[in-house]
Amino acid sequence: MTSQDNFDVVVVGAGMAGLCCAATLVNRGLKTLLVAETPEVAWNIRAVDVEGNKGYVQHPMWSVAWGGGSWYRVAREIGANVTFHVAPPVDLTIKGSGVVHEVPICTSGAAMTDLFAAMSPMPLGDLRAEFERVLDAALAIPYQELIAMDEVPISKWLSEQGADPILQFMIMTFVANVCETTIPIATEHISVFGAWGMVRSLICGEGPVVCPDPDPAQGVGIPIGQAIERRGGTVWRGRKVKRVIVDDGRATGVEMEDGSVASARVVALSCGTSRVPKILPTISPEVQAAIDHAFSLAGEDVCTYTLLSEPVVDIKSYTMVSDTDGSNLAFLFPMHHLSPGHTTPGKQFLAAQGFYTPEQYQALGEREGAVKRLNEICEELFPGFTAATETQKTQRHRHHWIGPLLHGPRLPSKDSQIEGLWFSGDGSRPVAGLGVEAASSAGLLRAHAIADSLA
Ligand SMILES: Cc1cc2nc3c(=O)[nH]c(=O)nc-3n(C[C@H](O)[C@H](O)[C@H](O)COP(=O)(O)OP(=O)(O)OC[C@H]3O[C@@H](n4cnc5c(N)ncnc54)[C@H](O)[C@@H]3O)c2cc1C
Repeated sequence: MTSQDNFDVVVVGAGMAGLCCAATLVNRGLKTLLVAETPEVAWNIRAVDVEGNKGYVQHPMWSVAWGGGSWYRVAREIGANVTFHVAPPVDLTIKGSGVVHEVPICTSGAAMTDLFAAMSPMPLGDLRAEFERVLDAALAIPYQELIAMDEVPISKWLSEQGADPILQFMIMTFVANVCETTIPIATEHISVFGAWGMVRSLICGEGPVVCPDPDPAQGVGIPIGQAIERRGGTVWRGRKVKRVIVDDGRATGVEMEDGSVASARVVALSCGTSRVPKILPTISPEVQAAIDHAFSLAGEDVCTYTLLSEPVVDIKSYTMVSDTDGSNLAFLFPMHHLSPGHTTPGKQFLAAQGFYTPEQYQALGEREGAVKRLNEICEELFPGFTAATETQKTQRHRHHWIGPLLHGPRLPSKDSQIEGLWFSGDGSRPVAGLGVEAASSAGLLRAHAIADSLA
């Protein structure tokens, strides 16, 4: 070990969870170090650049109706220069139908029932009143209670409502689509918070997705990182934590890959659940259970970013593509509409993403096969897509977003065996949002708990 720096708190990982955690700690007056192993903070939400065109699939959710949302609040409190516009509501299409449904924001069970009726291949008939009753019950849950229902399986809740089995299946089909998963996984693993949280966010306007300018990293994450430094916090970029140092059962800092050490009264891990075991000397049973659970449901994603010479793409908002059996096939993002100003004039630029179970991914032929599948979906929806393709880049992510939607073991806020070790990523409990909001809320909530513990 070589050099040594002393802090109140070291935050490991500078995604939105780490940024919101560090910013809030700085605002609470604590001497804070934020460590990014990547050249810049918010690395995982940066745009993919295709000949100067900016594409991204992580359009941050903004839980505006749930107490104002977390990253927005952090940006305001730390004085970060963050601007964005709200994306239009999601559109929906079923493969082969040739119809794209533009989804208005639905305020009530009646409004959502009309939406279901318009999309459903079979008439709702006698189920209509039932549908409305169950959806009204889902919308009536106060958001604080909804957030706290992260351990209640959605399938259990539907049964408790006395929902008709056909209705349950139709609702689970819709839930699987908005959660980008399969119907069996949704039925077995998605919580009430995950299911109704996503539906209420995307369909009922409680948490719309936004388009920061010019992209989520440069428009939100990096300005928060810069504001942390302006307020006296420290950000290390391009430096990886090798291990958390534990002395006499207490976390006392971190050792970096380069051998240097940062000492601290508290260490907060915002590094994503899958990275936790790599840097801890011992793992409590509770933490191990959360890690095992996260790995057991980890899937694969593939994203494509396609620059097009002809105007073949006719969707105007981000669009959910469902298969005829009801499972999710893809989400599509026409960047030329969502983020105008960052596509070359006269061109179109389409981002597409697909999520797969490991079995689906294998069956498709892994990355190459998944890209081919996305391109086939695009060709079917937008005839001439292949011929108009000028350049295409592809991307995979390692840290996905389904964790906060699932019930089951989660990382605790604070380790039970290592004093001074906190978990502040989206795989820990509690979170108060989904997607980017899950990460941001974990950082924000944990920062306040840490600051209170050190007061
Ligand atoms: C394909 C895809 C699409 C998505 N779409 C959306 C969307 O439309 N809307 C939305 O709101 N959310 C979306 N999400 C989810 C959202 O992007 C994530 O939930 C959020 O960005 C996670 O932030 P985080 O801080 O928890 O994790 P990360 O951004 O992964 O940050 C963790 C950081 O820790 C760092 N790290 C790990 N180990 C170490 C170490 N030893 N030393 C130093 N640093 C370390 C990593 O480099 C990483 O940068 C999507 C996610 C994916 C994958």
